[in-house]
Amino acid sequence: MRIDLHTHTDRSDGTTSPTELVRNARAAGIDVLGLTDHDTTEGWAEAAQAAEREAVRLVRGIEVSCRYAGAGVHLLAYLPDPDHPDLVAELERVLDGRNARLPATLERLSALGIEVEVDEVRALAGDAAAMGRPHVADALVAQGVVRDRAEAFDRFLGPQGPAYVNRYAADLVAMVGTVAAAGGVSVIAHPWARRHRHDALDADGLAALAAAGLAGVEVDHQDHDPATRERLRGLARELDLVMTGASDYHGTGKVDHELGCNTTDPAELERLLSLAAEASQAAGRVVPEVVGG
Ligand SMILES: [Zn+2]
Ligand SMILES: [Zn+2]
Repeated sequence: MRIDLHTHTDRSDGTTSPTELVRNARAAGIDVLGLTDHDTTEGWAEAAQAAEREAVRLVRGIEVSCRYAGAGVHLLAYLPDPDHPDLVAELERVLDGRNARLPATLERLSALGIEVEVDEVRALAGDAAAMGRPHVADALVAQGVVRDRAEAFDRFLGPQGPAYVNRYAADLVAMVGTVAAAGGVSVIAHPWARRHRHDALDADGLAALAAAGLAGVEVDHQDHDPATRERLRGLARELDLVMTGASDYHGTGKVDHELGCNTTDPAELERLLSLAAEASQAAGRVVPEVVGG
């Protein structure tokens, strides 16, 4: 059984529709697929229909932009009630923050002599719930300023770049609580990715988050080298956290993240799903079912 629990569509910054994502997953031999667009559930309904047709089991989730001890952290929230008021309000705040960041980013690029219009970015963003840096990066690629998104982030848009603008992100500990209140389970995405600062997500930090209700950590991710994965695996075992693995697929929006390039062990998925069942019961919320397959 092949399980890929972290993927994106064009409802955030991926390049395929939810339907195409599910089809591509089927073609890649994926049996269980996690859909986790950034800060939105907009792709859920379409993906669920496609999952029924393609007989792929779909685990609906969200990759929530959070902050912990001053650093950006991505939190994978699986199977929460998408209508929980606190969750809805917080996702709205994050999406508003991202849209508000765009004009400021374009101003900074302009100061560097690079003119990008909001309309160019909007055209490239298509059906996305929010226009974000990946779409600005696409505009820079279209103009021939950079070769690809990665270069755009390295040279301009990343935290060290001259066009970087800070934006609102949810408090990580509070969000773990909100996800639980919405009947879902939380997994930290790529906690030790090279490009993110992760000083606060050390053994003590992860222990504190586990105590606050964190269910798991994403161990097998392209941004973790083999030694990092081994260390994280050891720590997850110590803290009794679920270990997941996933591609972080973005269609053609991110190279070297093909569907199924990392996968989750079936026993770990079962642990995650039983924690999710407990969470939904404890919260008394109506949560999305795992459909398809
Ligand atoms: Zn991420
Ligand atoms: Zn992601």
